[in-house]
Amino acid sequence: MSPSRAFAFMLPGSKQRGKHFPLSSLMLDWLPMPNLAVLNDQITSCTRCPRLVAHREAIARSKRRQFRDWTYWGRPVPGFGDPKARLLVVGLAPAAHGGNRTGRVFTGDRSGDWLYEALHRFGFANQPRSTHRDDGLRLADCYVSAAVRCAPPGNKPSVEEFDACRPYLLEELRLLRKLAVVVALGRTAFDQYLKACRELSRPVPSPLPPFGHGRLYRLPWNVALIGSYHPSQQNTFTGRLTKSMFYSVFRQARKLLRG
Ligand code: SF4
Repeated sequence: MSPSRAFAFMLPGSKQRGKHFPLSSLMLDWLPMPNLAVLNDQITSCTRCPRLVAHREAIARSKRRQFRDWTYWGRPVPGFGDPKARLLVVGLAPAAHGGNRTGRVFTGDRSGDWLYEALHRFGFANQPRSTHRDDGLRLADCYVSAAVRCAPPGNKPSVEEFDACRPYLLEELRLLRKLAVVVALGRTAFDQYLKACRELSRPVPSPLPPFGHGRLYRLPWNVALIGSYHPSQQNTFTGRLTKSMFYSVFRQARKLLRG
């Protein structure tokens, strides 16, 4: 079934005949993924959002001057890390010249420099640097993902694009069975994680709990959710997010996992 038809799928013969269902709830029935590798294959071949497909490919063709010798990835960027992770880090979307260039989430940009350095500092990564897909980086007890898998124009996916991509996050939440702590990088990732949980029938409060840097929520499904400002240059250059503020989030995550 084509993705465009998926949006208008109706349950035949049910009392709910005629009602349109969100794509994300249906994807779970259609695409039960046996493991993360299969899911990641599915993600990397996705073309569901025409605007994002056009953007990611245009960036890959035009390139940034300093990366002109690179063959850009130019496709959706899957999650990365340890399939047995207890810590999940959720970001917004790949950067145009970061993940969209290297093919690995948070790899090759300033945000990734902050993230992997912090993960290394608290024992979740074997090295502090993340420059390309074959740089030897390994995550331990940690998986890194994003709410949207294609680089969006202006770092702003549309509501429809979030909805279209959320099934992949849902599948990750299903497959990462040991999750105990989730760090959401930015308000949008925080809200998208909770929306995905709601679609998994978890008892998410309405309205969603407020986001705050370092704010911790112990969720009823035995997951601790920590909000963090996103390590974007907009936040790090202005001092809204400092290294010590960022470290405190991962220190807290490590402490929760030890506990
Ligand atoms: S953003 Fe997600 S749903 Fe949209 S094309 Fe990319 S991978 Fe597919």
